[in-house]
Amino acid sequence: MKTFYIETFGCQMNAHDSEKVVGTLMAQGYTQVETPDEAELVFYNTCSIRDKAEQKVFSRLQQFKKDGKGKKFAVLGCVAQQEGERIFEKAPHVSLVCGSASYTKLPDLLVQLETGNKRVTGLSLDTDQTFDTPLTRRDNPYRAYITIIEGCDKSCAYCVVPMTRGPERSRTSVSVMKEAGDLARAGYTEIQLLGQNVNSYRDPSAAGWDFAKLLDEAGRVPGIRRVRFTTSHPRDFVKEIIDAIGENPALCNHVHLPVQSGSSKVLDAMQRQYTRDEYMRRIEWMKSARRPIAISTDIIVGFPGETEADFEQTLALLDEVGYDSIFSFKYSQRPNTPALRLDGHVPEEEKTRRLMILQEKQRAIQIKQNAVYVAQVEECLVEGFNQATGQWIGRTSQNKTLNFLRRGGDDDLRGRYVEARVTRAGPNSLAGECVN
Ligand code: SF4
Repeated sequence: MKTFYIETFGCQMNAHDSEKVVGTLMAQGYTQVETPDEAELVFYNTCSIRDKAEQKVFSRLQQFKKDGKGKKFAVLGCVAQQEGERIFEKAPHVSLVCGSASYTKLPDLLVQLETGNKRVTGLSLDTDQTFDTPLTRRDNPYRAYITIIEGCDKSCAYCVVPMTRGPERSRTSVSVMKEAGDLARAGYTEIQLLGQNVNSYRDPSAAGWDFAKLLDEAGRVPGIRRVRFTTSHPRDFVKEIIDAIGENPALCNHVHLPVQSGSSKVLDAMQRQYTRDEYMRRIEWMKSARRPIAISTDIIVGFPGETEADFEQTLALLDEVGYDSIFSFKYSQRPNTPALRLDGHVPEEEKTRRLMILQEKQRAIQIKQNAVYVAQVEECLVEGFNQATGQWIGRTSQNKTLNFLRRGGDDDLRGRYVEARVTRAGPNSLAGECVN
């Protein structure tokens, strides 16, 4: 029996890539196991977004090696693409290095490994195929990811993704809609359309759908009750997306629109291709939508050249938008990115100070934002049960966690849609009681 173990880091794209890799391996006769100890082949799907990503990968590979006698090791993902064959020099126990744009070649690469090749690589970025496999083994029984576009044609100054995932490749709308229909028939009710920049989706077939059309149509697939999407780029985010959400109740009323900075000067240095005013125009579309839309974002503090005044513009933006949640990070240098050439390095302790101020401010905003839901009844998809508190864990259309109690009835609610009245609101979640 051929066994494998896979460990995954990073974004939803990586998580979904691992689901595809698992399905591909199983179709090749491999069996997935729960620990590296039990596996013959250990896969490590890496992410290079965070600070010191490469060091972390090599230190994890060393840990694997300690008990790894007789095993083979494979490195996938962004660090695999970025470091390439250097991985073999730094970690000679690794036998396979493969970037995400080459996962379609995995069956061939596995055969090479099995036939005794010591070092096998899949590092080509010039693929014209998307990794569209019916073999995907999904981790979540209720929500399924669907990749609609791979790669990225932007060149944000801090980002390695265009180098590690290659240029944009959209799937045909027929292929996306078929996957959505198959998922609905398999019992999934929530789908999430994925891409580094879903807004730049362009149907390569004659139908020529744009992202707003694809989103709207995904929300009309019989059996699909919720559609989410991530992630967006403000430059390509058009009003038709908001119009579709306003009119189609299956489209979740939550938009994640990364801003990165509230200062147009910093946005320019980041090569983000929009100004603060242009970003705010998109926020205004959301604020005047037919249904209230929850908004979340990503923010980087301490980008080279960011002054105190620039940072204050970011703080002011938090107030102006009233985000429902943010993901915030200190800028860190990534290999081969344009930002490496910029002056105006912000000291580490100053970045830490800014990040703490930003997060404290956002926490206060979230308390206010979430308080609005108290006494309202919200529909949630039930995702789990907390034994310790006796609460069910639900997610609202606005992507808020709603922990709720249910009086009477002992049937399993997981995977079902229930209504719960919100009785309390904290900065990160809501609490309530089931009303049906
Ligand atoms: S849009 Fe910018 S931040 Fe997002 S993946 Fe592309 S280059 Fe990176």
